[in-house]
Amino acid sequence: MPDEKKPNPCAVIAEDAFAAAPQRDPELVEKILNDPRMHDHKDGFLSCIQCGVCTSGCPAARFTEYVPREIARRALEGDVTLLTDDSVWYCFSCYTCQSRCPRHNSVAVINQVIRGLQVESGYAHKHVEMFAEWCGNFYDKGMGGDPHQLFPAIAEAWGEKWASYMDHLLEIRAELGLGDLYPPDGVVKEVQTIMDETGFGERLRKVREGGAESE
Ligand code: SF4
Ligand code: SF4
Repeated sequence: MPDEKKPNPCAVIAEDAFAAAPQRDPELVEKILNDPRMHDHKDGFLSCIQCGVCTSGCPAARFTEYVPREIARRALEGDVTLLTDDSVWYCFSCYTCQSRCPRHNSVAVINQVIRGLQVESGYAHKHVEMFAEWCGNFYDKGMGGDPHQLFPAIAEAWGEKWASYMDHLLEIRAELGLGDLYPPDGVVKEVQTIMDETGFGERLRKVREGGAESE
């Protein structure tokens, strides 16, 4: 017979854990679970056993305060503090966690969903604005790394022969029967349609303008 005067230690631990639990939003769990990128990981997401294998193999966790196991737990709890947690940006999508998880969960994908939500809210513009120029070029010209921006910097590093080659690049391309450096207008239009239809164009516009952060 258990001693009724003594508190159940497990109950105390659970009570403390819930008392310390941040605000939870079941809709956040649904958003993560129903994201198309999670389609192979739904069961794993719901059955995470908090074994920590993801953390043990994560290069980002080794050098930062970022903890994949905690991301998996907090995502399953619908912990809204994830939406303002900068540590998810330490993940660099190497997928080691995904390949090792015994439940086939994917913290890599969970992070991608959370990052997307952070960008949508405007919170994470500081993390993505450095890519805005590259993405802007992709939207405007169908090519992220604009040769006319990149080549001068490369020429400086690679020396005079490269610079001379670049000076005559268009002539050389014409001699070889190659077209312009940029994709044709029709292709650019298709790229823009895809980016607009997926909502990427609108996100990019907000990041470029920095508008959503004050919304
Ligand atoms: S390896 Fe998988 S099951 Fe283990 S804590 Fe990480 S996400 Fe959960
Ligand atoms: S994908 Fe991200 S969370 Fe997973 S192991 Fe790599 S850096 Fe860590």
